[in-house]
Amino acid sequence: MSDHTIQPESDADTAGCLDCIDGMSVTTTQFLGACFRVCTTCQPQCTCCDGHGRFPAWTNDMLEFIASLNNNGLQPMLCHTCGGFLAVVLLDEDSTSDT
Ligand SMILES: [Zn+2]
Ligand SMILES: [Zn+2]
Repeated sequence: MSDHTIQPESDADTAGCLDCIDGMSVTTTQFLGACFRVCTTCQPQCTCCDGHGRFPAWTNDMLEFIASLNNNGLQPMLCHTCGGFLAVVLLDEDSTSDT
């Protein structure tokens, strides 16, 4: 190809991966519905959560995601390494959280 095609830079070799877009593959969870996860095929998995972190599809702003859960009395548990959503717990009004 002699066209002056500009290829986007990519750190990882995702060009040939059919399982993801830019290293993120689409999946679903019961809680989130449609969401993304780090591609298990071509990406290194987060060692903190073992690649279990999930990212909601409806927003790419995790603060907005957290706020929306808080509004529903829920508290998301996020991986502190990759920031992926792992689980959700009920917000405790008189928080005695010891996590
Ligand atoms: Zn991939
Ligand atoms: Zn993680």
